[in-house]
Amino acid sequence: LIGTSASERPAAPVCWAPPPSVPQHPFLCLLFFASSLPMISLGITGGIGSGKSAAVARLAAKPGVRTLLADGLAKRLMQEDAALRADLIAAFGPQTYDAAGRLNRAWLAHQVFGDDTRLAQLNALVHPRVRAAFLDARAEAEADGVRLYVYEAALLFETDAGQHLDAVAVVDAPAETRIARVLARDGVTRAQVEARMQHQLAPETLRARADYVLHNGGTLDALHAQVDALYARLLDAATTEEGREDAAV
Ligand code: ADP
Repeated sequence: LIGTSASERPAAPVCWAPPPSVPQHPFLCLLFFASSLPMISLGITGGIGSGKSAAVARLAAKPGVRTLLADGLAKRLMQEDAALRADLIAAFGPQTYDAAGRLNRAWLAHQVFGDDTRLAQLNALVHPRVRAAFLDARAEAEADGVRLYVYEAALLFETDAGQHLDAVAVVDAPAETRIARVLARDGVTRAQVEARMQHQLAPETLRARADYVLHNGGTLDALHAQVDALYARLLDAATTEEGREDAAV
């Protein structure tokens, strides 16, 4: 509009029949409506190697999306939360942290490997902290006007995180494909991958509990197309009352 006179400028858009509480400036008006749209919380889960991270990475690049990874959050809390550190040391010994104060993952893994009681003890210490931090982060996202809040967790149905989410998408792929991907990604043995798979819910259970299933037995492009469609569907749904109900089913 530089160089145009006031009379040549197009009329500024105005809010349609705005109630008195709606700002009259067009930009503020847009912001008002954008920020008053409800936030949708979406959980992403699935077995190891199914493609959870790939799906979340695709979503993370989209407007209005904020993501939180349960695994990273748990690691950060075990490193930084003083009360949790003290509890872990009490339960698993001073070797849980090295001389520099860094979490000794190998030690902790060794303590719980093949011992369900010790694993349950670790989870009982870590999960409540993860849940509290997740709820804080979700509230912050809502206050910041985030439209789609995405929470990726390998153990989602096993914890009560599902209660705090509007919908859950499960990423699914054939077991052999998942094993091949993890072997290529992590440099672990097939037996180690299979042991981790055994500790996860069966694929049919995950699919049955999902609101949406993302099929990732094919190419990354095929996964991305499904993620894009889910994003559009959830955000479209959030703008209408009926759609909101659909998306929350
Ligand atoms: P998860 O987070 O569920 O363990 P990832 O998203 O990390 O799984 O995927 C496992 C590995 O397989 C990663 O290296 C990823 O880049 C790769 N991958 C995921 N989906 C596909 C796909 N459709 N085609 C090829 N490689 C894939």
